[in-house]
Amino acid sequence: MAKLNEPQFSTILIIEDEPEIRRFLRASLLGNDYRVLEAATGADGLQYAKHEKPAIALLDLGLPDMDGLTVIRKLRTWSSIPIIVLSARGNEADKIKALDEGADDYLTKPFGVGELLARVRVALRRVPDQDTATDDPFVLGELYIDFGRHQVFVGENEVHLTPIEHRLLVTLVRHGGRLVTHRQLLKEVWGPDSVFETHYLRVYMAHLRRKIESSPSRPRYLLTEPGIGYRLASE
Ligand code: CA
Repeated sequence: MAKLNEPQFSTILIIEDEPEIRRFLRASLLGNDYRVLEAATGADGLQYAKHEKPAIALLDLGLPDMDGLTVIRKLRTWSSIPIIVLSARGNEADKIKALDEGADDYLTKPFGVGELLARVRVALRRVPDQDTATDDPFVLGELYIDFGRHQVFVGENEVHLTPIEHRLLVTLVRHGGRLVTHRQLLKEVWGPDSVFETHYLRVYMAHLRRKIESSPSRPRYLLTEPGIGYRLASE
């Protein structure tokens, strides 16, 4: 029997001009019971997004008719669907710009089917809204967070976090395994005046890892995306 609230065939919109990459994406997604819509230009992609209500968009940044960043900006004026950016290796600055414009995640070309499907699953997982979030505890491996009581446990042991450490952890949890850029984290944890203070993040992330990771240099929960941001492990 189908589980409630779990769409059976989520529709994934692919906005990518390279036929070969489109073919690879299509085959991988269709083979895993997703529906697929394909657009080779930004304009077509925006049309599909508006009229077909896909669950996720996979977006190439280098499109023939418009910059992928423009597509994100336009899409974000009326849609909050998860956007996963497809970008070439080495374009760190572009990825960060895309994430700051409102993309949710990225895949670096070339990527494998396993990585693609993992990112798609994370993007499809409903992220609890900060305002409407329930007080249900969060559990990931040994990590247990009781939001209502502001308590964090690793296994049997309660971990005592400072308010900033707690907010940093909860912010990553609320993003549900999606990548969160340095800028987003700084804004959400410290406020809009602190978006350039990346050293805050390094320091507090190190503190937090020492408290909740059994091996802080090889983190199990709080993963680094070098030069870009952090994400909570998805399982
Ligand atoms: Ca391209």
